[in-house]
Amino acid sequence: MLLEHLSAKLRTIEAQSLTRFLRQAESVTAPRQQVRANDGRTRELLMFCSNDYLGLAAEPQIHAALIEGVRLYGGGSGASPLVSGHSRAHEQVAETLATMLSPHIPQARALGFCTGYMANLAVVTALGEEGAEIFSESWNHASLIDGTRLARAEVKRYGHADVAGLRELLAASRAKIKLIVTDAVFSMDGDLAPLPELLALAEEFDAWLIVDDAHGFGVLGEQGRGSLEHFNLRSERLILVGTLGKAAGLAGAFVLAHATITEYLLQAARNYIFSTASPPAVEHALLTSFALISGELGQSRRARLRLLQARLRQGIEALLQRHPALGWRLSPSDSPVQPLIIGGNAEVMALAARLEAGGIRVPGIRPPTVPKGEARLRITLCATHTEADVDELVAALAAAARDMDKAAA
Ligand code: PMP
Repeated sequence: MLLEHLSAKLRTIEAQSLTRFLRQAESVTAPRQQVRANDGRTRELLMFCSNDYLGLAAEPQIHAALIEGVRLYGGGSGASPLVSGHSRAHEQVAETLATMLSPHIPQARALGFCTGYMANLAVVTALGEEGAEIFSESWNHASLIDGTRLARAEVKRYGHADVAGLRELLAASRAKIKLIVTDAVFSMDGDLAPLPELLALAEEFDAWLIVDDAHGFGVLGEQGRGSLEHFNLRSERLILVGTLGKAAGLAGAFVLAHATITEYLLQAARNYIFSTASPPAVEHALLTSFALISGELGQSRRARLRLLQARLRQGIEALLQRHPALGWRLSPSDSPVQPLIIGGNAEVMALAARLEAGGIRVPGIRPPTVPKGEARLRITLCATHTEADVDELVAALAAAARDMDKAAA
């Protein structure tokens, strides 16, 4: 019965062109990968889908630090942090992050998690207690949304970047604990939340601002400290979540906030308490990653990213002008996430398949991840892409646009 029920559901998913596929990377020489598709064939693809924005996952210094970490600490952590899984490397990572981000959150401490998903669940569920109110931005990442679903607090959604709408909700709230929850860089659009305005509202209405900087940490700001540095923000009311599997090139995540908040999370966040700590070798290598992010290599890679971003946008904007009838549009993004909004599910998947047949992998993103009718190619850039890589993508998109325009004529 269960199998028939699920098979019927799978058929419905397929009929809506919503089936997701796993591909297997056989080897990575970023940004190119040997990828094995479902048909069993392996080929090289030029990838525009990794969140390893600075290319640190491929950085030999990180690899050497991982190996050193294994020699020092062995394999897994063996237990949850409060039992015996918290190593010296975990502590050093927390201390380094607190120092790095001290210009933005005073008296802060950091708490480590294995993934950003877990960190978001922890902070939203532990702080979103009964009687509290959560004000959640409508384009938030799934992990924040799941956090609000698990929390006992009342949840109010405000529109994307709708500061005036949020102000109304806050003004009407009688809750003692008010939590504003937002992505800093929206993962499917690449635009930035109006953090200065949100923080001003938090100060005015005695609320707290939880910022998920998954796509900002390492990428934004002169020193790569992320969106708080980009906007030059400083406040005790900021609760920052950062992920370490994207620009930091490894894995893991952290919550950084006033020490009283992190101490409470340590006592109360169930997915911190009851989950095995990350491998200490990864933590050890993160120390190298932070040094690279803050140093010259990080600075030059961030500058490169901005250059590639501008080149890609110019190229795509020119082709959009040549083919206005297609109705494609480029998201107004100021980050390495550069989505090209196409429209229908089948249309975007056909375009992604065409690119892949030509050796370029850009994932098609469909509802419910994005709104209906706004299926898109989510192009992400890494500092290790060359100008020629970007030109190759633009040329492939231009060829597809020409053919689709002709077919429609
Ligand atoms: N927040 C955002 C905005 C994300 O895009 C992601 C990952 N896609 C996460 C959180 C989850 O982070 P992780 O992959 O480390 O679980």
